[in-house]
Amino acid sequence: MEYDVIIIGAGIAGLVTANRAAQLGLRAVVLEKSTEEKYLCNSRYAYGTFHINFTGLDTPEDDLCTKIDVATDGFARKDLARAVAKDGRRLMQWLKDEGIELVNLGGYGTNVLSPPWRTGFGLTWQNYGADIALQRLEANFQKRQGRILRGSRARALTLIYDGIEIEVEQPDGVKKISAPSVVIADGGFQANPDMLRQSGVSPAPEKLLARNGGTAVGDGLRMALGLGAAPSGGMNNFYGHLHNRDAMQSTKHWPRPVTDDLASAGIVIDADGQRFTDEALGGIWISNAIARLPDPLGTTIIFDHAIWEGPPGRNHAQPPNPLVVEAGGTLHRADTLAALAAKIGLAPERLSEVVGEYNKAVEQGTLQKLEPARGDAPNKAWPIKTAPFYAMPICAAITNTMGGIVVDGDARVLDFNDKPIAGLYAAGSTVGGLDGGPRAGYVGGLIKTTIGLRAAETISRKS
Ligand SMILES: Cc1cc2nc3c(=O)[nH]c(=O)nc-3n(C[C@H](O)[C@H](O)[C@H](O)COP(=O)(O)OP(=O)(O)OC[C@H]3O[C@@H](n4cnc5c(N)ncnc54)[C@H](O)[C@@H]3O)c2cc1C
Repeated sequence: MEYDVIIIGAGIAGLVTANRAAQLGLRAVVLEKSTEEKYLCNSRYAYGTFHINFTGLDTPEDDLCTKIDVATDGFARKDLARAVAKDGRRLMQWLKDEGIELVNLGGYGTNVLSPPWRTGFGLTWQNYGADIALQRLEANFQKRQGRILRGSRARALTLIYDGIEIEVEQPDGVKKISAPSVVIADGGFQANPDMLRQSGVSPAPEKLLARNGGTAVGDGLRMALGLGAAPSGGMNNFYGHLHNRDAMQSTKHWPRPVTDDLASAGIVIDADGQRFTDEALGGIWISNAIARLPDPLGTTIIFDHAIWEGPPGRNHAQPPNPLVVEAGGTLHRADTLAALAAKIGLAPERLSEVVGEYNKAVEQGTLQKLEPARGDAPNKAWPIKTAPFYAMPICAAITNTMGGIVVDGDARVLDFNDKPIAGLYAAGSTVGGLDGGPRAGYVGGLIKTTIGLRAAETISRKS
């Protein structure tokens, strides 16, 4: 065989795996389906913050494991949680040794790809940290005699006696290549509407904002399942945010600013003026709840002047106030709730009723009695009392799926009996079993690159 390992996908997870494999003396090749020099993928768009559940990687390993356990309500696999918690700092050092610059922006942003983009609105990625990191990793791989085969889409896997054979679609036809080991790093299935529908993410995925590179169509998961891999639980959960609804039409409104903090300080209502979820659980959760509605494009955040001018509106590096307005996003404003209702096509008494019940519950500390119940943590419920009042039509944006291929702490793909499938590994966003649980607990995106280091090292040990 010409190669020791074939990696499917040249996002950050695939390129880290490939470089680590080559560094360990393995003959590695990467299949990348896109042809452009700066092919799009989630990694290219990333803000570049390596974190675990919004906690810096210098936090003690055991504390990070506890964070993951709490955030996912015990859903995350213990071996996988331990693997990312243990290897986060090692990955940061490894990236630095590759010549990739990381900066400390404080808070949970202790390790951010440099230069970071933290001003203005809209989609901006050229020559920021993640784009530069991908270019550097590609150049390093080439220096190590590795090859990225662009325009090569893996479409089927077959177990053969000494490894795995891959059917690859290339511009000049379909070819077959094989190797003892294959690492799937295709990024997940957020850009595959059929899979989003089938897995219960949304009955109407075309009404979600694709806050992603548009390239992760679930090939990896489909191929792994074909070899007997087990899908993770929680296939209906995803990582995403809330955006002004105009983002459906214009990249001026995404990926920043997000409107999560406004939503979790005020209330979110559907087209009938009903609350439908616990806003206190935050933007990722609310996005999931909206996606599951029959009409994900019918929701609106209701808030007041104190929220808009206070921390929920302003306390973000790229805050909705004033960026939504500067970007020309729709924001209704009125001096009374009745006038606001008229602007969004609701009966005045309907809006007064829902806001009135909510305000009473905030005042009396009876949020749990609301229907649906609302918490007061992690996001505090603000009263909606100070004029002017605001209504912002929003959409739910999907960045990446949380469910996917189950791997163990050594990156080996597992079957339904929790046994590794010979020669098959996965890394990056395609991996399930870490993020999720009943409240769609988010562990992190870039941190799953650590699994790529592990994949290369496991393969090297067995070679
Ligand atoms: C706007 C934005 C900001 C983000 N910011 C952060 C952040 O600050 N911190 C964080 O932790 N996460 C962040 N994320 C998430 C993070 O970007 C992803 O979790 C991570 O980059 C995923 O990397 P990956 O290599 O697994 O997948 P990807 O980057 O999606 O790469 C997968 C690659 O596989 C290729 N591919 C797919 N199918 C095939 C096939 N069949 N054959 C060959 N190639 C194939 C694709 O073309 C693609 O190039 C952000 C995402 C977005 C969109």
